[in-house]
Amino acid sequence: MPTEQPLRLFFALKCPSDLGEAVCNWRDSQGIGGRPVTQANLHMTLAFLGNQPVAAVEGLRQLAASIRVDAFTLRLDQLRLIGKDFACLTPSQNPSPLNQLVEQLHAGLSTHGIVLDARPFLPHVTLSRRVQTLPGLQPRPFQWSVDRFGLYRSDNTPRGVLYSELASWSLANPRR
Ligand code: ATP
Ligand code: MG
Repeated sequence: MPTEQPLRLFFALKCPSDLGEAVCNWRDSQGIGGRPVTQANLHMTLAFLGNQPVAAVEGLRQLAASIRVDAFTLRLDQLRLIGKDFACLTPSQNPSPLNQLVEQLHAGLSTHGIVLDARPFLPHVTLSRRVQTLPGLQPRPFQWSVDRFGLYRSDNTPRGVLYSELASWSLANPRR
């Protein structure tokens, strides 16, 4: 029997298409340059799992399904350079449910023996890579109503990196 290739996996928030379109239009109007991320690929990584066996996916689905966190609004109000040269949108404040979602995922993953990057979680949406300097203007800001998160696989293809959703889960309606 052929051995199945591992999957490169991450949990993320996928940018909704209307927000993605507005973000791409804004980015392009600012002349940010570099290598722009396609609209379809705009996302916020919650946990990067790296290469995992296909057999791990079922356990990851169960882990994700057990998460109980309220939906929230993310306010992307800063344009920053992260790492060497990634132009990113970031929130200046992390909503509590975002922190809870990341904490619950990270805790669950560690019980599955999945070792995450030691760097603290830094919420960001990458807009473009290989950017040297940023324009001075800050975004308007962008409001993102987050009511789902998903598990994605990442594949390098001749056309660039492709993310495919394996499954997604709803966040709870916050009690008012
Ligand atoms: P490519 O690496 O092909 O240029 P990419 O960075 O978008 O494309 P992946 O490397 O598969 O694709 O990463 C998927 C997501 O996980 C991206 O949001 C990436 O920033 C994030 N990621 C990758 N490596 C780590 C890591 N060590 N720690 C935290 N997040 C990571
Ligand atoms: Mg990468």
